[in-house]
Amino acid sequence: MTTQASSFVELRRQLHQIPEPGFQEFKTQAVLLERIAALPQEHLEVRTWRTGILVRVKGTAPRRTFGYRADMDALPIEENTSYPFRSQHPGYMHACGHDLHMAIGMGVLSAFAKQPMSDDLVLVFQPAEEGPGGALPMLGSQELQGMMPDQMVALHIAPEYPVGTIATKPGILFANTSELFIDLTGKGGHAAFPHQANDMVVAAAQLVGQLQTIVARNINPLDSVVVTIGKIEGGTKQNIIAEKARLEGTIRTMSIDTMRRVKARIEALVSGLETAFDCKASIDYGSNYCQVYNNPAVTEEFMNFVRTDGAMNLIECTEAMTGEDFGYFLERIPGFMFWLGVDTPYGLHHASIEPNDQAVDPAIEVIVRYLRWKSAQ
Ligand SMILES: [Zn+2]
Ligand SMILES: [Zn+2]
Repeated sequence: MTTQASSFVELRRQLHQIPEPGFQEFKTQAVLLERIAALPQEHLEVRTWRTGILVRVKGTAPRRTFGYRADMDALPIEENTSYPFRSQHPGYMHACGHDLHMAIGMGVLSAFAKQPMSDDLVLVFQPAEEGPGGALPMLGSQELQGMMPDQMVALHIAPEYPVGTIATKPGILFANTSELFIDLTGKGGHAAFPHQANDMVVAAAQLVGQLQTIVARNINPLDSVVVTIGKIEGGTKQNIIAEKARLEGTIRTMSIDTMRRVKARIEALVSGLETAFDCKASIDYGSNYCQVYNNPAVTEEFMNFVRTDGAMNLIECTEAMTGEDFGYFLERIPGFMFWLGVDTPYGLHHASIEPNDQAVDPAIEVIVRYLRWKSAQ
């Protein structure tokens, strides 16, 4: 990257150096507020909500409010990139591109602060997308009331597409997701006296196998579901029967009904396990994100706009098993999310991901053109 960095690319690199976890985006919020304060203020109304920021840009003759959302948080990952602007917060990294999302959001905000469209714009800088989830509580907040958009847009960087690419589809784009934590408590004991104990390592092993039968035996094979146990913890020592075990995993489904069905099956299997092993079990679903459902009419219209606009290459993609709490906005407000190509061989959440930030300015421009066009309809 030898090209001169634009002001928004510079902002992205500045934000990249100060990654902060969900609801602790204090420095991030301060940097954004400083940039907002430097904009022409006459059309702006700025509110903060926890570590998030809401900015309304008053339109010249508003009939509607268009919303644009950028998420703010980073991940607990030790960065392993070749960037000269690497994370200065040990153990944290913007490995999901939210630094780019914020820079693009600021670019969109700046364009309208300088030259408003006829409708209102609300720029939503949302904390805690990666967890525990900022979208749902933000939607319920006083601060967002009275600023509620009629239509919402957001993007997510896509490592696999080249710079200059937009990919999306009408209907479901991202899955329903739920975390899954199961704690098993039995009775510990001496390894040589199994009949006097309830072994939770054996119970956990059995449960992992049983959980696989949900996808294989309880779900229509044409419906897509993932049940993954990514971590098991149990026991204390090789010659002691384990009193406790913990399973940690995730559930992904393409419909809300299927999510309910999977959870009902998990609960039935766990309750059967309690009887079978005479143990106690508890289930915690952690953070749950509802699907990202792109409003078909609005999305098709945007896709046509991108095709006609011609500045970016449009791909109609398939849905993905990733989760995004922007789904909660789309549950209430028609709108859509799209992928923005950033061309890097490493996937999202990888310590070596290096999104190409030359994608930032073209993204700002296409979103601004789209919103101005939409507002003129
Ligand atoms: Zn992420
Ligand atoms: Zn993300």
